[in-house]
Amino acid sequence: MSNFQTWRRGVLALLLVGTGWVAAGCASTDARERGVAQRLYVLYCGEAQIPDISPWSPGYNVGKPAVFSDNCYLIRHGQDWMLWDSGYPDALAATPEGIVGPRSRAIRTRTLTSQLAEIGVDPTQITHLAFSHTHGDHVGNGNLFTAATLYIQQSEYDAAFGPEPGKYGFVPATYEKLRANPTMKLNGDFDVFGDGSVKILSTPGHTPGHQSLLVRLPKTGAVVLSGDAAHFEDNFVNRRVPEFNFNVEQSRQSMDKIDAVVKAEHAQLWINHDAKQSATIVHAPKFIE
Ligand SMILES: [Zn+2]
Repeated sequence: MSNFQTWRRGVLALLLVGTGWVAAGCASTDARERGVAQRLYVLYCGEAQIPDISPWSPGYNVGKPAVFSDNCYLIRHGQDWMLWDSGYPDALAATPEGIVGPRSRAIRTRTLTSQLAEIGVDPTQITHLAFSHTHGDHVGNGNLFTAATLYIQQSEYDAAFGPEPGKYGFVPATYEKLRANPTMKLNGDFDVFGDGSVKILSTPGHTPGHQSLLVRLPKTGAVVLSGDAAHFEDNFVNRRVPEFNFNVEQSRQSMDKIDAVVKAEHAQLWINHDAKQSATIVHAPKFIE
């Protein structure tokens, strides 16, 4: 095994530790808030095979296995491209059997870059970048997008780029280049394009500055991408919080907030790791309008 391979395996193993596998209502009648994003692409960004999902729902589902989907989302707005989450590292695709961590086996059979290329997008064309949070199954390809403006909650930034990222389960190797990106540090909700089409929602709890995304589309209507505010539908419905979350009470409040936004916007709620739901959603190169 070359030094690079050794390094890569080390980084991937660390990422598994970091992912947690181991280790106000927005409805507005404001006329300015009537924009829509033209297209939303859902990209395959890996999967996790989990023999026992009870750590995600303490006291429930003991011994129950599941597969977690892992999606990334590419939004077309005018001449801009925005990427929401980047999934497991593309390097994982070189290990078809995946990498086993204490709570799961992580697999990525297709790279993010190959899917972007299929759509005709080079990573340097991504002008807007945000992650639901900084765990390795979401920031695994962060370093690819150094040309983008990064939108991140101040509290998440401080955890990710501060002196102790490991304390939060974060592994900077895959995102540290973003330190030099133009960065918008947020303290709450944020209207990315200023027309209400794409809104970052502050939903802390899973991590200090976890966030979700409201996307308004011309035909589909509103969709809320809830990151890891809940990992699967049953946890969202019952407000169950994983034992490893940063803050349990914030986690519940964030699910309440998402619920309120979904109702106010008549939105669809897309739960990233819910494989059953993910299987019903059209994936790239097709897109949703
Ligand atoms: Zn995740």
